[in-house]
Amino acid sequence: MRHRIITIDGPAGAGKTTVSKLLAQDLGCVRVDTGALYRGVAYEIIQQNITWENDAALKRFLSTLDLRFGLEKDGLRLFSSGKDITPRIRTPQITMLASAASAKSAVRSALLELQRGIARQQDAVFEGRDMGTVVFPDATVKFYLFADLSVRARRRYDEIQDEKKEFSCVKEQIQKRDTDDTLRAQAPLKPAPDAIHIDASYLTPRQVVEKMHAYL
Ligand code: C5P
Repeated sequence: MRHRIITIDGPAGAGKTTVSKLLAQDLGCVRVDTGALYRGVAYEIIQQNITWENDAALKRFLSTLDLRFGLEKDGLRLFSSGKDITPRIRTPQITMLASAASAKSAVRSALLELQRGIARQQDAVFEGRDMGTVVFPDATVKFYLFADLSVRARRRYDEIQDEKKEFSCVKEQIQKRDTDDTLRAQAPLKPAPDAIHIDASYLTPRQVVEKMHAYL
């Protein structure tokens, strides 16, 4: 039987994570944060000191990579070769490396089957950049969530205040990721032709989810 797959794509800071958590909770299904997989790749590249720009080295590395999701009491966890790396994949260094490495087609195809495998087993809400365009072109419903750059930067800034970063620096980094994610040749960030667009600039996460329910 085909499962109900809902995709939420959009740029960094648009609120995909909060919204997909709420929506999955409402629907009683799992939420899959596919950005975590790209972060897992970046984490292991650093741990294993891989020269990932070298295609042969990258291919060897990817053939040994063993990333899996686990659903624990406190939510979704990411395991690499059995080790829970969830608390380690949110550093600024990993954020930027995940974005750079995600432009490699070898990285994208290594993660493609993993994502589709999850969808074959259950209903799910998938959030990412290419969910509706590449990974699940036949998804049940596709959303494209976006918000003004300043609003997204402000949200990120509020989240990471303890890192003592300037607001302008947070905004620049988000803008750089937007540009890199949008302009890359492989699975660039863009709405699927049949995606429902939602501007989250001035909506609370709950208001966004209520809009989504209207299409489900
Ligand atoms: O969503 P998150 O910020 O955790 O994603 C980290 C990076 O992983 C993004 O900047 C993007 O380059 C990449 N990514 C991707 N495709 C996805 C999810 C994330 O290329 N489906």
